Amino acid sequence: MAFENDTELKELIRKAALLNAVSHDGKAQAGAMVGKILGERQDLRTKVKELSSIINTVVNEVNSLSLAEQKAIVEKNWPETQKKEKAEEKRLSPLPNADKYSQIVTRFSPNPDCVLHLGSARAIILSHEYARMYNGKFILRFEDTDPKVKRPSLIFYDSIRQDLKWLGCKVDEEYIQSDRLPIYYDYTERLIRDGNAYVCECSPEEFRKKTLAKEPCSCRLLSAAENLERWNRMLSGGYTEGQAVVRVKTELEHPNPAVRDWPALRIIDTKKYPHPRVGSKYIVWPLYNLAAGLDDHLMGITHIIRGKEHYTNMVRQKYMYEHLGWKYPEAIHYGRLKITGASLSKSKIIQGIKEGVYTGFDDPRLGTFAALRKRGITPEAIKKMIIDVGTKSNDVTLSWENLYSYNRKILDAASNRYFFVPESVVLKVLDVPPRSFHVMLPLHPDQPDRGFREYLINPEDQKTVTFWISRKDAEALEPEKVVRLMELFNVKTVSKTGNQVTAVFVSESYEDVRKIKVQLIQWIPKGEKFPCQVVMPDASVTEGYAESACKKLKSDAIIQFERFGFTRIAEVNQKLIAYYAHK
Ligand SMILES: [Zn+2]
Repeated sequence: MAFENDTELKELIRKAALLNAVSHDGKAQAGAMVGKILGERQDLRTKVKELSSIINTVVNEVNSLSLAEQKAIVEKNWPETQKKEKAEEKRLSPLPNADKYSQIVTRFSPNPDCVLHLGSARAIILSHEYARMYNGKFILRFEDTDPKVKRPSLIFYDSIRQDLKWLGCKVDEEYIQSDRLPIYYDYTERLIRDGNAYVCECSPEEFRKKTLAKEPCSCRLLSAAENLERWNRMLSGGYTEGQAVVRVKTELEHPNPAVRDWPALRIIDTKKYPHPRVGSKYIVWPLYNLAAGLDDHLMGITHIIRGKEHYTNMVRQKYMYEHLGWKYPEAIHYGRLKITGASLSKSKIIQGIKEGVYTGFDDPRLGTFAALRKRGITPEAIKKMIIDVGTKSNDVTLSWENLYSYNRKILDAASNRYFFVPESVVLKVLDVPPRSFHVMLPLHPDQPDRGFREYLINPEDQKTVTFWISRKDAEALEPEKVVRLMELFNVKTVSKTGNQVTAVFVSESYEDVRKIKVQLIQWIPKGEKFPCQVVMPDASVTEGYAESACKKLKSDAIIQFERFGFTRIAEVNQKLIAYYAHK
């Protein structure tokens, strides 16, 4: 190749690759670099093929370094390129009409019929962040008024409180709608008395026919007094399920038939479907728009921040606000946030647990906060991702990889490093010089003050040392191949049998082998193994040995098993049990 020895070009590529890698989580993209280099070196435009091949080589070299190593090189050589990052910390765009309110009040209002998952992250984090941004108030409101179909369960009230706490969202006030039925009844009576709501006895089909024809049903034409009588009959058990529903009047001409005279309260046979908190105390239960609509005003919510699927609900509720002489809060409707590959359907999660497909709400395959927590996904990463997406009204699709990349940025600096050799295989190294090797492995390559893991290696019979290495690394070893046992010494493979590799000592210095780009592999001295199980995101289990320094870990620590990935420690006992976060 004509420019094989062009060191200036190589340096140019190396710089571009490192900068690219640092801004892509340690993985430079070769494809993006060809154009960039050609922009600076027009003389190469006829030699794209050769150029690509050099770029590939350099990119592979750069990508074999850890992100921390790449950053260190960039900081050292081109510090001017790295200053922007911090300044670009994303802030949420201001709330509309914030200055019109003396205090900003937002709310998150889950139905406690399941644990929370990533699908709720946007509503929670945006509502909470805005409350904090304006020194306002963040309200948690349990919307538990459907004891029949979307049945709440006591355990979820608590798990939701815990999830919010974990996410760092401080709740200033909490309400539970099932405590508030008398309030909803009072306002319903007022709406009926003022002729703005009525008790409809029509069957759903009858009502539908009328409403599609933009005509009132016979119930709507009754006097307020007659409707109040029907309302009292509803409350006193004079109707059974399905026989009567309270409707709030709207324009019958509204272009969307689903808005016309929307249902506000219905009867639920709570003898058959007791509510987990209030049992069968009530049989008349508010539907979503009545309860949420009233509460938003009564709780002084100034800004409702929710998904755009709620847009029609706002249209419905505005009629009720007009009837009551209230002003509707500011409403921000953001687009749907999809996470590809995450199971975020409540019913599927609950069914999967019932059928034993999932081990629980924290099964690593689920996108629940409980599962993310167990795997070492940090709340800070979730928060940062959501704030970066903001309140756009268009749909946003994110992948697990997006979330991992936020998390990696946090963990890379925060996590200690350890060795783990999955599916351990014996590596016997012969001809080791007859002396002690005292190895100090840094807990973090960039932060020596964190301390070290120390191992003392004494060759048996003055010449042999036995290690555990991972099966994957063992499989890549061929006779004559040289590898470096990370931070220790270089060895050359001699032979291989099923569960054992035999090698000979080559030299100690990394400089000796750096030029030939040897693989650096993890190792654990024979007597320093600690059995370890890592539960992977697909719920499979990877077994192997961790180094004995891991015995000192505490559960809940998040560490990096070098060249394997970030994991959260669940249990340190006879065995180390960890959950895998990501690479
Ligand atoms: Zn009717």
